[in-house]
Amino acid sequence: MGTAMFPGERPDRLEEECAVFGVYAPRDDVARMTCFGLQALQHRGQESAGIAVGDGETITVEKDLGLVTQVFSESSLAALQGKVAVGHVRYSTSGGTNWEAAQPHISAIDDVLIAMAHNGTLVNTKRLRAQIVDAGIQLRAGTDSEAAAKLIGKFTQETHHLREGIRKTMEMIEGAYAMVLASPDTLYAWRDPSGIRPLCLGELPNGRGWVVASETCGLDIVGARYVRDIEPGEIVRINDQGVFSERGVEPRAYAACIFEYVYFARPDSVLDGQSVYQARRNMGRILAREAPVEADLVLGVPDSGTPSAMGYAAESGIEYADGIIKNRYVGRTFIAPTQELRQLGIRLKLNPLPSVIAGKRLVVIDDSIVRGNTSKKLVAMLRDAGAAEVHLRIVSPEVLWPCFYGIDTDTREQLIAANMSHEEMRSFIGCDSVAFISVEGLRASIPDVKTPGFCEACFTGNYPVEIPASTVRDSFKTKADFARDFEKESADSSIALA
Ligand code: SF4
Repeated sequence: MGTAMFPGERPDRLEEECAVFGVYAPRDDVARMTCFGLQALQHRGQESAGIAVGDGETITVEKDLGLVTQVFSESSLAALQGKVAVGHVRYSTSGGTNWEAAQPHISAIDDVLIAMAHNGTLVNTKRLRAQIVDAGIQLRAGTDSEAAAKLIGKFTQETHHLREGIRKTMEMIEGAYAMVLASPDTLYAWRDPSGIRPLCLGELPNGRGWVVASETCGLDIVGARYVRDIEPGEIVRINDQGVFSERGVEPRAYAACIFEYVYFARPDSVLDGQSVYQARRNMGRILAREAPVEADLVLGVPDSGTPSAMGYAAESGIEYADGIIKNRYVGRTFIAPTQELRQLGIRLKLNPLPSVIAGKRLVVIDDSIVRGNTSKKLVAMLRDAGAAEVHLRIVSPEVLWPCFYGIDTDTREQLIAANMSHEEMRSFIGCDSVAFISVEGLRASIPDVKTPGFCEACFTGNYPVEIPASTVRDSFKTKADFARDFEKESADSSIALA
């Protein structure tokens, strides 16, 4: 609900990460297929888009800031001819918002070019960057993804095998990664040993080739059949010899990001066997049992809150209504609003239907509350439209900890649930009641996954991949911790003065 819409604006939600797409299909227009794949995955990143194509001899890349449809035209796609392609849409969780940081990243290994794209965040980038610079290799973008691409180049040069270059890089990098790479004639795809970010494999009909994508909606749009998810720690290699799978690094306990089911993934995607739409309906049903309330209507905050609202309505017997309409064409844009328009805030994206909600007691289902400012504006907007009562029901547990695995979250100091009790939150937001699904309830909403095991760190603080102490120092402090530090420093300085 609180996605930032304009440059420089901080989002009031867990912000999407990135998406990757890859295709090996020698008889197809691979650039055009990648362009469609990236459009299906556009919800995961709107800051930049890029496609790199291998034609058997070399790699050509086209990338820029903007949405897929802003970056690519008929003529730019026509110039990208080949048999293998990788693509990327980006939301910046590491490095800046500039052309250099847009992906795929190109590296030269002797005189052979490779193109790599990454979804996720590496937690040991600082150390990797120092090692790369020490080895005399220049870094331009400053992103974790560029660091990984450079390492692959370095190790491939040393071992004379790209597979070995990827494998050795996987041994060094830590964190969340789903990566795709195109050499002039081969497509590679691999996933971190905990499987934090999603990546799946699909097959094109009539033996035309293979596709990899962050979500199955990226396979559907090009007519590929879902085959399976890429395994944690696995490297898949696809070329004219076929599809090959090998172990890159030993898998660890499976820790797929549970928030993919709540909000990041598209509802028509299937992650590890679980329909995202069905999971969201289940969340609503379970939340209705965990946090019932007397009301006249159930509304969902579009889009991610809608299936959960239907689930809540079905379980509670309270009527479901479309009471909040989304303005679909005000998305992330590079056109900043005037100050007057900015003051409209949430009204630019959501508009209530007074004819539906006036005089009614509402249960409003949303996916998450991060800082609480957007929820506050939403409640005020519903009250202005005549709502008699507004009860917020949230289908994620309280977000108490920051994410370091590819999702843009604030420090604990800025997370409302880390700093306020439920009653304080209710009073700040201005609603009649607020309740969150439990961690157990959220887990129970996802019963069909083939491999249970989730990262739930933003709710529990149990991080599946260790975060370097230098990174967490201030991110883990709540307002109360900062106040305590301040008091201690003041006391220390008065002792010193005395
Ligand atoms: S910390 Fe939260 S948002 Fe980040 S990967 Fe884990 S579950 Fe997903």
